[in-house]
Amino acid sequence: MSPPSYIHPLHSLSLEEMEASLRELGHPSYRAGQVMEWIYQREKRVENWSAMTNIPAALRSILEVRHPILLPEVIQVSGSKDTTQKFLLRLGDGELIETVLIPASPALYGDESDRRTLCVSSQVGCAYGCRFCASGLDGWKRHLSTAEIVTQVLLAEKISGERINNLVFMGMGEPMANYENFIKAITILNAPWGVGLGARKMTVSTSGLVPRIRDLAEQPLQIRLAISLHGASDDVRSQIMPVNQKYPVAELMDACAFYSERKKQMITFEYILIEGVNDDPSEARLLAERARGLRAKINLIPYNTVEGLPWNRPSEPVQEEFLSILRNRGIAATIRREKGHDIDAACGQLRRRVASSLTGSGEVSAMN
Ligand code: SAH
Ligand code: SF4
Repeated sequence: MSPPSYIHPLHSLSLEEMEASLRELGHPSYRAGQVMEWIYQREKRVENWSAMTNIPAALRSILEVRHPILLPEVIQVSGSKDTTQKFLLRLGDGELIETVLIPASPALYGDESDRRTLCVSSQVGCAYGCRFCASGLDGWKRHLSTAEIVTQVLLAEKISGERINNLVFMGMGEPMANYENFIKAITILNAPWGVGLGARKMTVSTSGLVPRIRDLAEQPLQIRLAISLHGASDDVRSQIMPVNQKYPVAELMDACAFYSERKKQMITFEYILIEGVNDDPSEARLLAERARGLRAKINLIPYNTVEGLPWNRPSEPVQEEFLSILRNRGIAATIRREKGHDIDAACGQLRRRVASSLTGSGEVSAMN
C-alpha cells in the first residue's frame, strides 16, 4: 500500500510547503522556519524529530509521521580526505547510488578555482543508454526523490567534515529526465533557509534533452549548464548516444543558444575522447565551429574504461592534437585529467561493481 498523499519526506519540502502543512494542522507557520533550521543549519543538521527541542512534543509526533526524516545508509566510503572520496549509499528500497567528493582542482565550470565539488546522482540507472557509459548498462530503475538528491549533499558534508562549495549533477542518471524533483532539489539546495549554495556553484550535465534545456532557461535560478556532446556531427554522435536520434545536434545547438542568451551565461561542452570513435581531427574542427557559435567552453575527458565495454582512450599525442586544434581556433578548451580514476569515480562504475558482488545486505557493514 502506498503512503497517504500528505506524507512527504522532510527533505523534499520547501519552506512554503512546510508552512502549509503546519497551517493545515492548525499550528503557526513560523514553526516551518524553525524546522528548516534544525535540518539545514550547519551546526545543527539533526537526524530525528526528537532533537528539535523548540517544537512542542505533541506537534513533533504528528510531523514525524507526515514528514519522516529519511536518510540513505552509507555503506561504503572509498578514497581519503585529500583525494577523491566516493560514497556508496543504500536507499530505503535497497537501491544503490553514489556520490563523489572531488577536492580542490583548477576551475572547470566557474570562474574561480573550484574548491570541494560534489558529484551527485539523479536517478537509479539511466534510460538513455549511451554506449560508453556504465550507468546506462543495466537500464533505468527509478527517479530519485527530491529528498534523495538533497540528502546526498548533507551526508557528504557530514562524513567528510567539509563544506561543499560546488555541485555537479554528473553522477548516475539523467537529471533533466527527473526534471521536477531536480528543480525542487536545486531550489532547496540554493535557498537561504535550505543549504544556501549559490546557483552559480551548481552545474547540471545533460545528454541533451532539448525541451528541458529550454524549460531550464526560463527558470530564475542561474544554474550552469554542461552538455554531454561527445560528437560534433550527427553521424558520430548518433553512433554513441541514442538520444541524438530524437534531438539531433542542430536542435541541441539551438537550445544551447537559447539557454546562453536567456541566462547570459557561457555553457560547457563535455567531450569524452574515445579512440577511433570521435577523436578524428575532422571532428575536432567541427567541434570548434559549434563551440565558437555559442562561445562555449570545452572540457575534453579521456575515456575512463568501463568493464565489459570495448572502448579505450586515445594515446596522449592524439589527445593533445585534438586539444590543439580547438585552441588554435581560439576555443577555451581543457583536458580533464580524471581524479579518482583508481576508485572508479566515473559515472556509475562503483555501484555496478558493488551491486554485482553483493549477494545479501549482510556482506557490507553499515558505516553511519
Ligand atoms: N546523464 C547526464 C549526467 C550524468 S553523466 C549526462 O549524460 O550528461 C556525467 C558525465 O560523465 C557525462 O558527460 C558522461 O558522458 C560522462 N561519462 C559517462 N561515462 C564515462 C566514461 N566511461 N568515461 C568518462 N566520462 C564518462
Ligand atoms: Fe545516462 Fe548520462 Fe550515462 Fe548517457 S552519459 S547513459 S545520459 S548517465
